[in-house]
Amino acid sequence: MSQNEVPLLEEASPSCTVLAASSGNGAGVAMQGLVGRASEFEGEEAVEADRSTSGQSPQPGQGQAPLFRFGVITDVQHADIPDGASYGGTPRYYRHSLQVLRRAVDSWLQSEPPPAFAVHFGDIVDGYCPREQSEVAVQAVLAQFERLPCRTFHMLGNHCLYNLPRARLNQLLDIPGDADGCSYYSFQPHPRFRFIVLDGYDVSMLGWPPEHPKTALATAILATHNPNENKNSPETLEGPSRRFVMFGGGISDAQLAWLEAELDGAQAAGQRCIVCCHLPLEPASTAPACLLWNYDRVLAVLRAHSCVVATLAGHAHRGGYARDGAGIHHRVLEAALECPHGSDAYGCVDVYADRLVLHGTGLMADAEMAFSTALSQPLSSSL
Ligand SMILES: [Zn+2]
Repeated sequence: MSQNEVPLLEEASPSCTVLAASSGNGAGVAMQGLVGRASEFEGEEAVEADRSTSGQSPQPGQGQAPLFRFGVITDVQHADIPDGASYGGTPRYYRHSLQVLRRAVDSWLQSEPPPAFAVHFGDIVDGYCPREQSEVAVQAVLAQFERLPCRTFHMLGNHCLYNLPRARLNQLLDIPGDADGCSYYSFQPHPRFRFIVLDGYDVSMLGWPPEHPKTALATAILATHNPNENKNSPETLEGPSRRFVMFGGGISDAQLAWLEAELDGAQAAGQRCIVCCHLPLEPASTAPACLLWNYDRVLAVLRAHSCVVATLAGHAHRGGYARDGAGIHHRVLEAALECPHGSDAYGCVDVYADRLVLHGTGLMADAEMAFSTALSQPLSSSL
């Protein structure tokens, strides 16, 4: 297919089409977080990203306009509390992260072309935020995003669930979850691209009431795989087994079936897919303790669909990258929370017919993620 066949930005839908997950029967959505601050281990094992396979350095300004651009930032984890540190001693700047976001929004407002939307990859508020201040902290972050003329898409992280009930988070973050309170959805910002947002805490100790079946399922999973008294600790676990910690989570069978249907639909429509999740999905892209519990099942589904070009995640604060054997790029984005005063971590992604180009600022590294234009079904057949 030639570049000329690709519609330019102005031909794209003027507003995103957002598709909520299908609703189902089940428990209500008035839920409380089960645990308090408990993710001290999170991000402690971040690996040095191997970006050697990410291709050439981005070369913006080569004359070709992207199909569209979107802004990215993750793990703002704001709280109006003094600077602190993670369990491993990595400094965390709970107030400054809001300034990082402010500068990101300033940058996006001046961007040409302007972003069609922005994405925050979860953990909008920190677990150390006093509970009575959680909503205020979230609103402070949202006030920054609201300066944008475009929509921001959110997803749930563990720190979100330490602070607020799922239902309230879905409401505050405008997440079109299903009737069960799950928080996965998709949107189509361009006729040729579908974004799929996974709920990595669908099966988790976090966010569901004690009597909820998913709490029981998550409890059983951790009891089987993590012998530590403190289920937030990956100590004694080795390799990918370190992912079985309470600050992690997994995808339910229902969400997995929904994902498969979404990908089938995208494949049939000739769309390419970018999969977003707070938790990283590819072991080579991150530390084992940061992985989605059933990343292997999700990867098997993704790899069975040639329409999937990339996954984007947060949670592992130093970031990471890997490209798997199926050619899917897996990019873990650097956290706003751990930017020392005056430094930044945000970016914008230019989407082309054959690649994603991440223009990072500060600690967020640039990346070019090329992909084949070939799909099992020609793009032109469905448009
Ligand atoms: Zn997280």
